[in-house]
Amino acid sequence: MKLPIITYPDKLLKTRSQEVTTFDQTLHAFLDDMFETMMESNGIGLAAIQVAHPIRVLILCIPDEEGNQFKENTIEIINPVIHNPQGTIIYQEGCLSVPGFYEDIERFATLTLHYRDRHGNESTLEANELLAIAIQHEIDHLEGKLFIEKLTYNRRKKFEKEYKRALKEKKNS
Ligand SMILES: [Zn+2]
Repeated sequence: MKLPIITYPDKLLKTRSQEVTTFDQTLHAFLDDMFETMMESNGIGLAAIQVAHPIRVLILCIPDEEGNQFKENTIEIINPVIHNPQGTIIYQEGCLSVPGFYEDIERFATLTLHYRDRHGNESTLEANELLAIAIQHEIDHLEGKLFIEKLTYNRRKKFEKEYKRALKEKKNS
């Protein structure tokens, strides 16, 4: 089932998400719904808070070189913790909760991630490039942060102006 995605400036996006303690059928069904929602929205990542569930859950499906996403490349990440972040990388990020806006954001280039899978098993992965970027973007959501908060003052102003205009246009159409 596709879930509705909440968008900026919905205040729920500022909530810090809570740790998951129960890895049951309800969680599994929710993860399946998150996958459907992400794919139907043409996203490469989705945090639970974006579908109004403030729990520490995110999913990622990084496209291959041709831009194709495959279900078997989906990573379900629960209660993530970043270790050993290194280097910097700049990438033009977007967000399903901030539709239509893209900006260059600086992130760590590589990291190690400790997390739980859907069964509660401890897992580790090494990430670089787009995977590392997406992990950091989604974990920010779990902290109640959006990528636009990383913009400089002037770029943030530009965003507010463009976003308000886009919202108005949407209302009028
Ligand atoms: Zn996002």
